[in-house]
Amino acid sequence: MQTDACSVEDTIKMDDPDLVSRSSRPEGTIVEVNGIKIGGNAIVIMAGPCAVESEEQLTETAKKVRAGGASLLRGGAFKPRTSPYSFQGLGKDGLEMLERARNLTGLSVVTEVMDTRQVETVSRYADMLQIGSRNMQNFPLLKEAGKSSKPILLKRGMMATIDEYLHAAEYLLSQGNTQVVLCERGIRTFESSTRYTLDLNAIPLLKQRTHLPVIVDPSHGTGIRSLVPTMARASIAAGADGLLMEVHYRPEEALCDGSQSLHPEEFVNMMNDLQKIAEAIGRSIHML
Ligand code: PEP
Ligand code: MN
Repeated sequence: MQTDACSVEDTIKMDDPDLVSRSSRPEGTIVEVNGIKIGGNAIVIMAGPCAVESEEQLTETAKKVRAGGASLLRGGAFKPRTSPYSFQGLGKDGLEMLERARNLTGLSVVTEVMDTRQVETVSRYADMLQIGSRNMQNFPLLKEAGKSSKPILLKRGMMATIDEYLHAAEYLLSQGNTQVVLCERGIRTFESSTRYTLDLNAIPLLKQRTHLPVIVDPSHGTGIRSLVPTMARASIAAGADGLLMEVHYRPEEALCDGSQSLHPEEFVNMMNDLQKIAEAIGRSIHML
């Protein structure tokens, strides 16, 4: 006997992401990090090492990306590594280094939080919380971060569909946090010549489906340093509101993701090209 008047179609509709949908805010959302607007006309560049490794590595890299035109400094203090024997990050010491680098350079800090128990501590140091690909469907973490007042950078799960991604973002908004930026970072495909396959389709598709800003990480999306500048240009041409890039002052010595990290000079050269692409599509690059 049917006790519920809801049809299957109604149930599916009820579960659809609503708060993130473009129709709920056709004008688009601008996420602000210390006055830096993500989702407006200006494209925002976030750059820095994969992991915080030392005071010297972080400050030297931070100074270079600041001079090259980045507005935010990236760098993980808590690293999600495939092997438990790989460098796991410096933890709280790394957060303190990020804070000092911010004071030194004026860059705002985006750094990863992997666990509900870290949200409060990481929030004390970071200007923006990063939720990584591997945690895109860590629902308790999404709920906890959704209660935080910090802006959130939610990376796409490497095996997540656009629908699953939007549902993950809906978790954050459903907890009251509307300051959410999405980040396409490549998906798993049959192709093994690159680390992941950067899904450029996701940029215009997400922009149609949601009002949230969309940025791209061409470092993880390719895994190959020499491909990064080209895919950064392509991302901007396709409508990305920003880029998240790995840059290391000495990539060959990096403890994590060195082969996809740009040398500082490569970053500067790339930024010059990005400026031209931005101008060609009527946008600019945000400068501090
Ligand atoms: C990172 O940004 O260094 C990182 C671990 O990225 P992802 O979660 O996209 O793999
Ligand atoms: Mn990395």
